[in-house]
Amino acid sequence: MRNLTKKTFPIKGMHCASCVRVIENALSKVEGVTMANVNLASETATVTFDPQKVNDQTLASAVANVGYKAGVEEEIKTEDEDKIQKQKELKNLRTKALVSLFLGSLIVWGSFPGLMNTAPEILKNFYVQMILAIPVQFWAGLQFYKATIPALRHRTANMDTLIAIGTSTAFLYSAVVTVFPQLVMELGIEPMPYFDVSTVIIGLILLGRYFEARAKMGTSEAIKKLIGLQPKTARILKNGKEIDVPVSEVAIGNVIRVRPGEKIPVDGEILEGESSIDESMISGESIPVDKSKGSLVIGGTINKTGTFTYKATKVGADTMLAQIIKLVTEAQGSKAPIQRVADLISSYFVPIVLMLAVATFVIWFDFGPVPAFLFALLNSVAVLIIACPCAMGLATPTAIMVGVGKGAENGILIKDAESLETAHKINAIIFDKTGTLTYGKPVVTDVIARSETTKQSQSERSLRSARDDILQLAASLEKGSEHSLAEAIVNKAEVEKLVLSKVEGFKAIPGHGVEGMIGKNKAILGNRKLMEKEKVDITHVGSHLAKLESEGKTVMMLAQNGKLLGLIAVADTVKDTAKSAVQNLQKMGIEVIMITGDNERTAQAIAKLVGIKRILAEVLPDGKEAEVKKIQAEGKIVAMVGDGINDAPALASANVGIAMGTGTDVAIEAADITLVSKDLKAVVSAILLSKKTMKTIRLNLFWAFGYNIILIPVAMGALYPFFHILLNPIFASAAMALSSVSVVSNSLLLKRVKI
Ligand code: ADP
Ligand code: MG
Repeated sequence: MRNLTKKTFPIKGMHCASCVRVIENALSKVEGVTMANVNLASETATVTFDPQKVNDQTLASAVANVGYKAGVEEEIKTEDEDKIQKQKELKNLRTKALVSLFLGSLIVWGSFPGLMNTAPEILKNFYVQMILAIPVQFWAGLQFYKATIPALRHRTANMDTLIAIGTSTAFLYSAVVTVFPQLVMELGIEPMPYFDVSTVIIGLILLGRYFEARAKMGTSEAIKKLIGLQPKTARILKNGKEIDVPVSEVAIGNVIRVRPGEKIPVDGEILEGESSIDESMISGESIPVDKSKGSLVIGGTINKTGTFTYKATKVGADTMLAQIIKLVTEAQGSKAPIQRVADLISSYFVPIVLMLAVATFVIWFDFGPVPAFLFALLNSVAVLIIACPCAMGLATPTAIMVGVGKGAENGILIKDAESLETAHKINAIIFDKTGTLTYGKPVVTDVIARSETTKQSQSERSLRSARDDILQLAASLEKGSEHSLAEAIVNKAEVEKLVLSKVEGFKAIPGHGVEGMIGKNKAILGNRKLMEKEKVDITHVGSHLAKLESEGKTVMMLAQNGKLLGLIAVADTVKDTAKSAVQNLQKMGIEVIMITGDNERTAQAIAKLVGIKRILAEVLPDGKEAEVKKIQAEGKIVAMVGDGINDAPALASANVGIAMGTGTDVAIEAADITLVSKDLKAVVSAILLSKKTMKTIRLNLFWAFGYNIILIPVAMGALYPFFHILLNPIFASAAMALSSVSVVSNSLLLKRVKI
């Protein structure tokens, strides 16, 4: 098994969906690269490769070969650095756009029929117009040529190619008309330059790009915010002294002191003191969380009231915040299935448009009215301009970036664009009971001794001691188990101050219970299945079992050497938000199902409390995956919600696996969506987010494609024979610029939807 590395790095110079294809192809062709994803919205490439065959240099040169620049050495920049650079680029773009539009409007004033009567003579001079058009074409428009040359070398065309070809033809024709008017007069055409067309197109497109770039900065805000959460220094205690060190120097095991109002530098566990901590930036939960000795704290969250010391348990790239940043960056750079379709279409689109432009030219030249050459030229330029597939290339990734970022801000960590897309289609959702629908913190409610079940009369004292014996034995057994039921029993024994016995040969039997030797006696504790397996007769406690279970309690039986000693009942509270979350999901038309290893009756009681109708009870831990598959076989698209650690196989086989209440590597690995908080509202929010994101994408694609499909025939002159309507290339470029801007803005609207 080879070790593959995944790397995300910035790419410069992309403007449309076809650039994405070209770079992806170039990167995929590098030997040792297994996957390459290029994202137009984040302007990044994410590449999976074999580090023995590929290094940063090979990747950078593959990208450079097709005419773009890869920043393989650059780290994703912090908010400030990135802002300064982007701001500079933006300013540059704005200056070029405004200068072009100003010069362009002077030319329009001097050449537009009707308007030109009001213009000073000098502006009507063709040479003056040419002089005004030159800086626009070769200074402001230089970037189009720069991008065209390497693209042509690789026989690809991109949006810049189209603009360069379109405006150059208009410019060159006009220059010829100006300098050698007799050339066109011989053809019987009045010498009329079209400098207005070349200049205004360049100005509008640059202006469109300026707005687009500004809006795109907004789509990557979420990740910048997360990066900004990273604290810079930590105050560690060393030899009784407090010293401030950069966060990067904190090591595991260091003891750190945090005062009120300070940021917690790295992840760790509180040693001393207590406080309430604002974790909203990570979990999305707005209410501060109370923490004391033994509680886990997360780096990047803010300490509110108390002072405490804690031990660093995770540093550097292992902290939760670092993991979240990595996850969000990768997810934003990943591709939604719906986008592949759009990319594929636009890869055919550019060559087809080039052909259509040629056809437009030929048809107008051969069959059009006089001056045929001019009509042919202008119409084909309009076709070229209008067909730029940039809006199409932005439609999906900008929405994914905003959606994934919005998720992260609300404690919803989405693994990739595909998960975000699939989540809107689910129509069945399976909740694990313990720890997901319930708090997973069960407490012992009843201890019943065998003597009580056989109706022997006995004194209060002997009854008490019989119960204590049962609890003592059960707790001794459970000491070795990590199950939440075990914890409840051990805690209860501690409260009762019972001294536990030594256990040998301890064994946990998943989905059944535990067993072990205490002295010479074999003791077992667990459910019916376990008793059956060990042939313990439990018929006489049947009614007790039934009563406790119908109250929603989980009952365990204790037996020694094959003889039943008593029962221990444990109850877990249902989460506050469980009922309303279930209701909301059902309102969305999603079937809600509960799965549990617990018995049918207990499960029914809990299900009734939260409003779930369908339950899958007594499912062994390794049987959950099979149950998920069974429901998928019913034709359902299934989401599974669990804790991510012991439910990993079920989470993985569900269409969308949702892990709750953790941000650990294990959970993030197994799940498609990780919810940092334990609040069930987040499940509803995650699905809503998916639905809203998909709605935005569909609307974006509709506008991007619809606009091309409608306007290309108009630009070709389809309306001319009937209404004499032609699309002036100037309007074509305005429409084009507007379409990209509107797609990005529509994606930004996603930031404001309520989830
Ligand atoms: P879930 O996570 O759905 O509650 P599990 O598979 O963990 O289900 O457990 C199923 C059942 O197995 C429990 O309800 C309990 O009866 C029994 N069981 C599992 N582990 C233990 C244990 N350590 N001690 C006692 N009973 C256990
Ligand atoms: Mg469980």
